[in-house]
Amino acid sequence: MTSLPSSMRAAVTRDWNDIRLEEVPVPALEPGEALVRVGACGICGTDLKIVSGAYQGTWPPALPFIQGHEWAGTVAALGQGVTGLQVGDRVAAENHKGCGACANCRRGRYNLCEVARTRGPAYKLYGHSAPGAFADYAARPAGLLHKLPDGVSFEEGAIVNQGALGLHAVRRCRIEPGDTVAVIGPGLIGLMTVQLAKAVGATRVIVAGRGPRLDLARELGADEVVDVTTTDATDGIRALTGGRGADCAFECAGAPAAVAAALNCVKRGGRVGLIGLTGNKPVELNTDRLALDEVDVLGVRSSPNAYPELINLIAAGKVNARRLVSRTYPLERIMEAFAAFRAREGGAIRMVIQL
Ligand SMILES: [Zn+2]
Ligand SMILES: [Zn+2]
Repeated sequence: MTSLPSSMRAAVTRDWNDIRLEEVPVPALEPGEALVRVGACGICGTDLKIVSGAYQGTWPPALPFIQGHEWAGTVAALGQGVTGLQVGDRVAAENHKGCGACANCRRGRYNLCEVARTRGPAYKLYGHSAPGAFADYAARPAGLLHKLPDGVSFEEGAIVNQGALGLHAVRRCRIEPGDTVAVIGPGLIGLMTVQLAKAVGATRVIVAGRGPRLDLARELGADEVVDVTTTDATDGIRALTGGRGADCAFECAGAPAAVAAALNCVKRGGRVGLIGLTGNKPVELNTDRLALDEVDVLGVRSSPNAYPELINLIAAGKVNARRLVSRTYPLERIMEAFAAFRAREGGAIRMVIQL
C-alpha cells in the first residue's frame, strides 16, 4: 500500500470573503469512511453565500472551515469495515449524510433527515456544516461515494451534485412521455432539468430566462425559449401551448416572480416543482387557482437516491454535463474563481477547481 501524506493543501475559509491556501492535516478516517483524493470540486451559488457569512453560525458552524460540496475524485484509502469500494475507484460524492435511523431516513428520504435541524452529530451536510472538499483529500462515509465510469471526467462528476437535483425533480413531478415541460431559470439546475425532462420522455421543453443562457438551453435540448426581458414568462409559455399551459413547470430561478410564473403557467391539473429558493421573500399566491385547477405543488430538496442513475445518463451521453463546466482553476486561484463566478463572467454556469 502506498503511504499517504500526513498533511495536505486546503482552501480554508478563515474569515468572511477570506479564503487562504493552507497546509492542514489529512482527515483521519472513522470506521466506514473512505479517504478520497479530490479531483475536481465545483463552486456553487451556496458557496458564495457561505463565504460571505450569509449563514454564519449554521453553515459553517464556526471558522475556520473548508467549503466545497460538488466534487469527485479517486479513493485513496479505506477505513475499517468499508465494503464495495476499492483504492483507485473513481467516485462522485454526495453531501447529505442522514442519521439512518429516523422515519424519513428509513424511507430513503435522507435529504429530509429529522435529526438535521437538531444539529445532532448523526446528520452531516458536508461542505456546509461538516468539512468540504476544496482540499487535496476528503473523508466520507462509503455510502455517499458513487463510482464513476472511466468515460466520465472528474469535472463532469462535480456537476452530478446539482444535476442530481434535477433528476430528483423530474421524479417528484412524475414527468411522463409526451409531456410539455416549462423550465423557468436556465442556470445549472435548470439546464440539467431541461435535459432530464427530455431523457425521461418529455417531448417539448420551453425555457424562460434571459441572456446567452437561452442559447445554451436550446443547444442542450430546449424546443422553445421565452425571453423574459421582452415577454412575461406566464404569457409566453401559455402562448406557446395554445393557452392550455404546460403539463409541468419547474421553478429554478429562486425569484418570487418566477415562482408565480411557474404556478400560473401550468395547465389545469398540472404539476409545479419548486427547486429555487427565494431567500424567504414573500410570494403572492392565488390559492383559489391552485385549488380549483388541482395544481400539484412539489418542493424539491437535494438529490436523494439519484447519483447512480444520473451518472449512467451522463456516461450514456443522454445528459451533457461537460457543457456546464464554464471554466477550471487550480486550487491556488480559488479566490479568483469565486470572484469570477460571483460576477458570472462570460455567463458562467459553473467554475470548477481542479486538484
Ligand atoms: Zn451546490
Ligand atoms: Zn435521519
